[in-house]
Amino acid sequence: MIQNIKKIREDFPILSQTAYGKPLVYFDNAATTQKPSTVLDIMDEYYKNYNGNIHRGVHFMSDKATAGFEKARKTVQKFINASSDREIIFTSGTTGSINLVASSFGEKFVGEGDEIIVSEMEHHSNIVPWQLLCERKKAVLKVIPFNLKGELEYDKIPSLISEKTKLISVTHISNALGTVNDIRQIIGLAHKNNIPVLIDGAQAIQHLKVDVQELDCDFYAFSGHKIYGPTGTGVLYGKESWLEKMPPYQGGGEMIRKVSFKKTTFNDLPFKFEAGTPNYIGAIGMGAAIEYVQNLGIENIAEAENELLNYGTKKLSEFEEIVFYGTAEKKASVISFLFNNLNPYDVGTILDKLGIAVRTGTHCTEPLMEKFNITGTVRASFAFYNTKEEIDKLIEGLVKVKKLFG
Ligand code: PMP
Repeated sequence: MIQNIKKIREDFPILSQTAYGKPLVYFDNAATTQKPSTVLDIMDEYYKNYNGNIHRGVHFMSDKATAGFEKARKTVQKFINASSDREIIFTSGTTGSINLVASSFGEKFVGEGDEIIVSEMEHHSNIVPWQLLCERKKAVLKVIPFNLKGELEYDKIPSLISEKTKLISVTHISNALGTVNDIRQIIGLAHKNNIPVLIDGAQAIQHLKVDVQELDCDFYAFSGHKIYGPTGTGVLYGKESWLEKMPPYQGGGEMIRKVSFKKTTFNDLPFKFEAGTPNYIGAIGMGAAIEYVQNLGIENIAEAENELLNYGTKKLSEFEEIVFYGTAEKKASVISFLFNNLNPYDVGTILDKLGIAVRTGTHCTEPLMEKFNITGTVRASFAFYNTKEEIDKLIEGLVKVKKLFG
């Protein structure tokens, strides 16, 4: 259980901000999360005292930064229970991680007529890289549909799989609906057919325990900024057996062993996939964010967020003008809705003036919106540092919206 929420909120300086003179209510955690002081402080400390480009220096600061960067890799490895730190590649975020796989895995293993499977609820980041690959390789993208509760139609998956299927790439949790997908079922089915699986963990890593060995996924992608770390950081976990077989993604410094005009050879994992100067101080910040989460306990975080989800859903249900999108049995702390038949943008703008930050629009899931035949929703997404009192403010805000629009 999370105790002393007041103290926890003090760990996040931005939460005591005001917006338009009103105390900030931050309900846009699915878009990005706020950062605890430990993250801000360690990055500040490195920039002020130990900023030296990593891996290739002999000097004090380069050594310190390299040690911090590689410690962060170990922290990530332990957090997701990868079997080796060679399987942890630092990227710029979930988008960067998925593009890496689409490009490198796609280059080697996908050919004309082959098939990739995604789902209908994917974020654009888990659609467009595959479309680009399919266009390049004349391959085919197939789509797992979802039902109107926002749950994947698992019984349709076997008929989508064929001997041409090269990869299945699905989200662990939907950013627009909050659905927690049964990825174990998908991974089990895929592996029975010798098909590797990539999991987009952008919305899951901060909410529930992820153990990549237990899940047995082949790739797992997530962003640092959604787990209380800095922007521009992320991770691609990949099974060593796949990463070893995949060609480099980008060329440049660090990813090589020897460069000559006759023949260039490449570095070992994970460096083969980390061309150029990485965001090493960002990665150190992400490591500190993960340590913060570990100290609180991901189970405690899940419990607190579940309570907020249940409370928010119950309170919002009291409005007869509300329509929920995403009513799956298993959900993370994301509530997507339309209110009073209003354009989500109008609702969001009024809430904003009351200091309440929600997201409005398609949430980068246009095919999902198309399925519901809507142009967007209002989305409130909670983190463990949110409170029931803040949810009450959202309810008061919606009462004002209702009054304003009649
Ligand atoms: N997938 C999902 C499910 C997401 O929610 C997001 C971010 N909204 C992404 C991918 C992309 O993450 P990023 O922009 O951090 O690369």
